[in-house]
Amino acid sequence: MAKHLKINIKNAQLAEVLKKNKQQKIEKEIKKESPSKSATKEPAVEEKKVVRARKTQSIAIPKSETPEVTKATESPKPKKTDEIKEAPVEKKAVEKVAEPPQPKKEAAPKKAAVAETTVKKPKKPEKTERPKEDLNKNKKSPSSYKRQAFSRVFNSRGGGPGSDEERWRRRRYQKSKTPKDTGPIIRPKEITVVLPITIKELSSEMKIKASQVVQKLFMQGLSLTLNDILDDPTTVELIGQEFDCQIHIDTKQEKRLQITTHTVDQEIADTDPSLLTTRPPVVTIMGHVDHGKTSIIDAFRKSNLASAEAGAITQHIGAFKCDTKHGSFTVLDTPGHAAFTEIRSRGTRVTDIVVLVIAGDEGIKPQTEEAIEKAQEADVPIIVAINKMDKQGFNPDEIYRQLADRNLLPEAWGGQIITINCSAKTKEGIDQLGEMIALQSDVLELKANPSERARGIVLESELHRGLGASATLLVQNGTLKEGDPLIFEHVYGRIKTMQDEHGKKIADATPSTAVMITGLSGVPAAGNEFIVLESEKEARKIAEERKSQLKRTQLRHTRGKDIEQLFSKKAEMHKKKILNIVLKADVGSSVEAVMSTLNAIPTDKVELNFISADVGQISESDIELAETTNSIIVGFHTNLESYAERLIKKKKITMMIRDVIYHLVDDIKAHMITLLDKVRQENEVGSAKVLALFKSSKLGVIAGCQVLDGIIKRSHFMKIFRNGEEIWKGSIASLKRNQEDVKEVKKDLECGINLDGFNDIMVDDIIRSYEVTYITQEL
Ligand code: GDP
Repeated sequence: MAKHLKINIKNAQLAEVLKKNKQQKIEKEIKKESPSKSATKEPAVEEKKVVRARKTQSIAIPKSETPEVTKATESPKPKKTDEIKEAPVEKKAVEKVAEPPQPKKEAAPKKAAVAETTVKKPKKPEKTERPKEDLNKNKKSPSSYKRQAFSRVFNSRGGGPGSDEERWRRRRYQKSKTPKDTGPIIRPKEITVVLPITIKELSSEMKIKASQVVQKLFMQGLSLTLNDILDDPTTVELIGQEFDCQIHIDTKQEKRLQITTHTVDQEIADTDPSLLTTRPPVVTIMGHVDHGKTSIIDAFRKSNLASAEAGAITQHIGAFKCDTKHGSFTVLDTPGHAAFTEIRSRGTRVTDIVVLVIAGDEGIKPQTEEAIEKAQEADVPIIVAINKMDKQGFNPDEIYRQLADRNLLPEAWGGQIITINCSAKTKEGIDQLGEMIALQSDVLELKANPSERARGIVLESELHRGLGASATLLVQNGTLKEGDPLIFEHVYGRIKTMQDEHGKKIADATPSTAVMITGLSGVPAAGNEFIVLESEKEARKIAEERKSQLKRTQLRHTRGKDIEQLFSKKAEMHKKKILNIVLKADVGSSVEAVMSTLNAIPTDKVELNFISADVGQISESDIELAETTNSIIVGFHTNLESYAERLIKKKKITMMIRDVIYHLVDDIKAHMITLLDKVRQENEVGSAKVLALFKSSKLGVIAGCQVLDGIIKRSHFMKIFRNGEEIWKGSIASLKRNQEDVKEVKKDLECGINLDGFNDIMVDDIIRSYEVTYITQEL
């Protein structure tokens, strides 16, 4: 019994081996025969087999890792899967070849035969490539063949996404598809683009090669590259015309980014009068340094700002609400240093009334004049506070005279200008000054709509270590509330905390109120406008879009390739050098102060171009920006972020970090000088007269000369004069004396001079010799 069992087992094993061999044989045969066989199969039969094959495969694939199971599961249906393997290929071929002559039905077998031949050829590389790949991977030829066959059938029926075969097929399809795209390209006759746009983007929109656009521009004398940015609508439209394509400029996005085209004043003017309420005036105290501006503000606020000042110069703009018995007003404290002209001009922009402080013992000074000019430019009414009335030498009449000389006739002399004699020290006249401000404010009828979403201006900004970015805002219209999402030029945020000038938390700020807020994405520049939006998300989106636009514009400016200005700039560039600067400072007003001070460096030869001007430490991105834009980095009252040190060393970018503005000015001046081309200076050192001419087969014409004056050196620069007129300039090719090459020939001696590239020399011509030096230019 056991013996029988053993034999049976042996037989069974033998049978299985035989079965396996047989199956492999059949497979080989089928492989040879299958294309012709399968070519005649009916599509319906194929479909059924596909379904069965799919079932088989779904079991076979996961189990194929264990060889025994593979044998067991795959052996029963080898023929069918192989038939299926070729089916789709053949089907495709039939479609390809058989479709056009459709009416002749009996031609089908022949078509199939044709199909066979047409199919076999393109399939050859696939047969050799694909199994190889799989065999190398899995070393299981039959099953991998089956899988491929299955996949092909399956995929041809829209299945198997994500499988290796599918991906492979898709890649191959894409590759093979490329050459087919060489057909005629249909170019749009009309397109709409958003500016700014690069040449590359524009050409791709017009469906033409970017090189064609570049070439066209080059023919116009403009050398631009694919990545250069076009932001001028006319230029873009003209390019379109050149390529027979009408280009429309989409300004929708621009409008969206702009948020509103109305100024605050226009917005208020357009408001329903019933919604408007009277707002307090915003007052700017201006005047010459030390005439008592801070003391007057101090007197108003009854606090001690003057003593808290570092030195005699107010460094930063601040805003305060002053409550007097005549009414309240907001005061902007403007600094009194010449470097802060920029801030002063901004001060007048947001100001309703200017209080011009003049020390009654000193009179009008340069900064007083400047303040008058700014106020008049901005058309802001002026109230003159003649200060220091407690001091000896206080002479208001002299001030009246000086004012009258400047078209500011005082009321005391029958004019319009209100003047108040006061003393910030004794507080005499201060109350009267407040009263005059209130009076002037009544005349101005200042209105705003507190129910509107808030908008206004940044007075000051800073990066606090603990609080992050903070800004002092002046609300000009609407009411600013805690939690409001808002946008500045490129910075957005949601108000986290809001404080008044005393550090007291407040929930909302009505028109003409100055508040310090936190919760910003970055530090907005002083002078930036802000506006409250619907959501923080919207604010972020707009800020990001504006930022990316700014970046592109900055790069465009740096490259100086604005087409419109290209030619004029080119000419200018020869004369003027440009120093690109990436500026970082501790606070917003320092940024402005540094910019205006550096811009005031008197020179026509170098132009300063501030690529960016921001608040904070010098970061890696500043270094990268400086590298891209070929800028130097300037830091004022700030430092380099510790992790950026390695980068700055690597990139070798010039960096200046200074705390004193005068030192910075000196260093920038020195750097500007290094940019200037050295001036060529020619000093005449000798002259010679041509007495005779000789011809040398090697050298050409040699002028036999006598040195009239000074010295002629081989290395000198020469000029030829004929009848007193310069006819040539260049260098000496050879200088000989008595047939010997010499370096120099002195006065009265004779020599032979061969000029480099000039043979038209004549007897009696004068050769003058010059020593050339290059001198460093002054700014
Ligand atoms: P600012 O630079 O214009 O802001 O001037 P300050 O307010 O800092 O004042 C400059 C100096 O003048 C300080 O020493 C003040 O004490 C002084 N000062 C200001 N107002 C008066 C005043 O009415 N009388 C006198 N005697 N001194 C004054």
